[in-house]
Amino acid sequence: MPLDRDTFDLLLGTVGRFVRERLIPREAEVAEKNAIPADILADMRELGLYGLSIPEALGGLQLNMEEEVRVVFELGQASPAFRSAVGTNVGIGSQAIVLAGTEKQKQEYLPRLASGELVGSFALSEPEAGSDAMAIKTTARRDGEHYLIDGTKRYITNAPISGLFTVMARTDNSRRADSISCFLVEAGTPGLSLGKPDKKMGQAGALTCDVIFDNCRVPTGALLGGQEGNGFRTAMRVLDKGRLHIAALCVGIAERLIGESVRYAAERKQFGQPIANFQLVQAMIADSQTDTIAARAMVLEAARKRDRGENVTLEAACSKLFASEMVGRVADRAVQIFGGAGYMAEYPIERFYRDVRLFRIFEGTSQIQQLVIARETMKLHGFAAAGNSEDK
Ligand SMILES: Cc1cc2nc3c(=O)[nH]c(=O)nc-3n(C[C@H](O)[C@H](O)[C@H](O)COP(=O)(O)OP(=O)(O)OC[C@H]3O[C@@H](n4cnc5c(N)ncnc54)[C@H](O)[C@@H]3O)c2cc1C
Repeated sequence: MPLDRDTFDLLLGTVGRFVRERLIPREAEVAEKNAIPADILADMRELGLYGLSIPEALGGLQLNMEEEVRVVFELGQASPAFRSAVGTNVGIGSQAIVLAGTEKQKQEYLPRLASGELVGSFALSEPEAGSDAMAIKTTARRDGEHYLIDGTKRYITNAPISGLFTVMARTDNSRRADSISCFLVEAGTPGLSLGKPDKKMGQAGALTCDVIFDNCRVPTGALLGGQEGNGFRTAMRVLDKGRLHIAALCVGIAERLIGESVRYAAERKQFGQPIANFQLVQAMIADSQTDTIAARAMVLEAARKRDRGENVTLEAACSKLFASEMVGRVADRAVQIFGGAGYMAEYPIERFYRDVRLFRIFEGTSQIQQLVIARETMKLHGFAAAGNSEDK
């Protein structure tokens, strides 16, 4: 049973308070230590944040998409590394199992992902397969009652702390969607190892690294849904949902940045008055607010459409493209409003400016969203676009 309205409003209020009282005050510490403090992770588990999108019968809160994006608007008010800690369990690290797992796989993993006991990762990208996801080289070869997995996955979020990897691997050599299958591989399986944590531009506290499979033997029961060939399609469905989640995160961050900008503009005096009085500064605030409201409306509309059971490939790509580009503009204006202080690490603006750059790159770059949008739009008008039917 999904949450009733009052319970959901209560949850939203609690998350908002948690963000303001517990997360924002710890942002600098997270950035410095490149880790989320254990007490914060425990609080996040307690609040149910790991299980937002997992069915209630399996221990989650079973939020619909509109509810999930509204929670993410709140979470986005704090440094995105906090969201990343729960983000894979809510999104790409659990949804393949929700969408396509067998009953046994759901029972085995979803309750532990929902509680946060287990962290899930989604391993699709490779050194030579980013935007071109169909180019993956990782293979899974059947060997009796097992599969042997070989290959390297790159930039995998939460891999250093992950207990379960959703891994896309090739079970056939041809370049077709049904050549790719999906496997659930537990950390500690012999033949699975991790690279060194990546050094990133931003989002300190959110971890990524390579995941290496060398003759990694998994039982046939690890094949998602018990069926070969559904991995690529499942990955694309997971990414559709993930794009809305990321777009909502961008909206939340933009709202935070506008709040910071207005506060600073009201306090900072030049020419004998607060810079907020200057219309050229007001124009930047107005542009950021307009951008943010537009993205928020777009995300909510797409989320409601998804909740009605309609296909949102087009709307999810539009939302992700617009919101991730939008938060880049908002962060840039925030630096401008802060002036020299915006360039200094002492203020959170400099950190957010670096943090938000990622949103135009992962879960499909802006260019890939444009290709998806063009393809879907041309389809709507009866044309089939050539050459980009497999875009991430
Ligand atoms: C911090 C971080 C976390 C990540 N987490 C995960 C994760 O958890 N799981 C996972 O599987 N992956 C993850 N990724 C990988 C991410 O999804 C890829 O980096 C992304 O899809 C882009 O792939 P690429 O880096 O290989 O860039 P490329 O695909 O090499 O793209 C380089 C440039 O070429 C452009 N380009 C490529 N193809 C086209 C085209 N056909 N038309 C026009 N332009 C094109 C791109 O838009 C981009 O501008 C993560 C990446 C980062 C940085």
